[in-house]
Amino acid sequence: MPQNFLFKLIIVGDVAVGKSCLLLQFLERTFVPDHDVTLGVEFGTKAFVLNGQQVKLHIWDTAGLETFRSITRSYYRGAAGALLVYDVTRRQTFEGLHEWVQDLQKYGTPDLVVTVVGNKCDRPDRQVSRDEGEMFARENHFNFFECSAKTGENVDEAFIGTSRIILSAAEEAVGPEEPDDDVVKPEVEKPNNGGGGGCPC
Ligand code: GDP
Ligand code: MG
Repeated sequence: MPQNFLFKLIIVGDVAVGKSCLLLQFLERTFVPDHDVTLGVEFGTKAFVLNGQQVKLHIWDTAGLETFRSITRSYYRGAAGALLVYDVTRRQTFEGLHEWVQDLQKYGTPDLVVTVVGNKCDRPDRQVSRDEGEMFARENHFNFFECSAKTGENVDEAFIGTSRIILSAAEEAVGPEEPDDDVVKPEVEKPNNGGGGGCPC
């Protein structure tokens, strides 16, 4: 019998790397090139079947807070996974990843699943090679994808690939004999009846 899993994912990275566009592409399969930063999606949900299990994601966008590096502990709390995004056409956003890793280590749960995303791979003017991105991810034991929020390339793979790893760990935690259909672990939240809404605190 399928079980229900609810995972919180967060998206972090420097301003304008394409975090909001990645979320919009994943949720609605659209790309809006000039959306207002203040109109970032902020929060979205998506449900799908993975390995025969019902998975629902609660995905949090930074809502522009990264501009002031004022993302607080409450944003990270309860997150099972994080997409750590840089822009392949702006090298400083790749170099800035170290600071984000420090935040993830400081505020995230110890078994947080992290996927590094090199975004805007549709652009010809890249400053960071794929190899460099891959090496950074490997050194930190993170997953890695190059994506384009514009064309949609690898966007599903990044979100669903992250979910797949979280799910494997959650299934292991539940065990095959467990009769309950909800998993309660620090990094896996119990679904609210009716779904949606809620706050990241
Ligand atoms: P955020 O601040 O990280 O949320 O970044 P946004 O999602 O607001 O995107 C910043 C800018 O990058 C916008 O002008 C987008 O149109 C552009 N952008 C985002 N993703 C891509 C992409 O994959 N390819 C290209 N060419 N532009 C992108
Ligand atoms: Mg944004």
